[in-house]
Amino acid sequence: MEIFNYMQKYNYEQLVLCHDEASGLRAIIAIHDTTLGPALGGCRMWTYSSEDEAIEDALRLARGMTYKNAAAGLNLGGAKAVVIGDPRKDKSEALFRALGRYVETLGGRYITAEDAGTTIEDMEYIRMETKYAAGLGEGSGDPSPITALGVFHGIRAACKEVFGTDDVAGRKVAIQGIGNVGYNLAKYLKKAGAELIVTDIFEDNVNKAVKELGAKAVKPDEIIGVECDIFSPCALGAIINDETIDKLKCKAVAGSANNQLKEDRHGDMLEQKGILYVPDYIINAGGVINVAAELEPGGYVREKAVKKAEALYNAVLEVIEIAKKENIPTYKAADRLAENRINLLAKVRKNYVG
Ligand code: NAD
Repeated sequence: MEIFNYMQKYNYEQLVLCHDEASGLRAIIAIHDTTLGPALGGCRMWTYSSEDEAIEDALRLARGMTYKNAAAGLNLGGAKAVVIGDPRKDKSEALFRALGRYVETLGGRYITAEDAGTTIEDMEYIRMETKYAAGLGEGSGDPSPITALGVFHGIRAACKEVFGTDDVAGRKVAIQGIGNVGYNLAKYLKKAGAELIVTDIFEDNVNKAVKELGAKAVKPDEIIGVECDIFSPCALGAIINDETIDKLKCKAVAGSANNQLKEDRHGDMLEQKGILYVPDYIINAGGVINVAAELEPGGYVREKAVKKAEALYNAVLEVIEIAKKENIPTYKAADRLAENRINLLAKVRKNYVG
């Protein structure tokens, strides 16, 4: 890839290649934008098939974090780290300590956290070398319940738009993936009186939801075509694609999964079908809100994170409002919301203080 051209196209700040022979570290830290503050984004470990693929992933994910953090009202920029390697075979104390030393060299411009392929234990090694690591055991803990809370309020906002009321009592919600977020979401929905239809590739997860929450179970390949009010993807990315779109029988798509649209044009297609799409990075920001709460002066206060996750209700309504006003699909409106905040705050006058 033409790295500088790519960086110029999306206005990246910095790309750091980290190498350490003793530990075998080959990692990339991409910092997209620090207009709003230090750049927060997870550290992913994956068996990338080429260096180009790893660099592109780091750059793409870093930019995604800028938008997610900005739209969530956080005073944080966007970045991401990727470690090239097999998370089941190539991990060691030395590897993550070496990465921690690189994070430290950035002096707080980048704050790392757990992501796919890394764990709290890995973060603890990084923390031995730098204070710029969040989401540790003694801090905010598992983000899934807060993510689920944000998704629940996002679903309420979607109902307000589609049905004129945000009361989910009696609404049919089909949840794909009843894992950490999906199960917690199902609990909130059940408490609020919604009807649940669930699926998962693991039967245990489904059985738990059936037994404890009275959910109706369907097979994994049936969930897309289920007649429902809300389809809530809480498993995989790219689930809204050419094969699935025509099968959907819902009024809105609102769930926690990252990168739900396979391509942007699938967001346009949902709009044409009259299905409201609640942009994923708006509705699933509870996780990053929870981690970011650790960085507040005075440390992590759960109630504050909960309040911010609940406020995703307003963020979803704001995105819908922008979409209507500017006559654009909601996925583009989400970007607009983030860009407006970054651009406005970048312009706010800097006063000289003597
Ligand atoms: P998880 O692994 O605990 O749950 C995902 C569930 O989906 C699993 O139970 C898995 O068996 C199931 N699944 C996988 N493929 C499936 C398929 N084809 N059909 C049906 N079920 C399938 O993960 P999670 O932490 O609950 O996250 C769910 C999604 O939300 C992911 O896309 C994640 O990236 C995203 N997300 C999570 C958080 C968080 O705080 N955990 C925050 C933001 C975004």
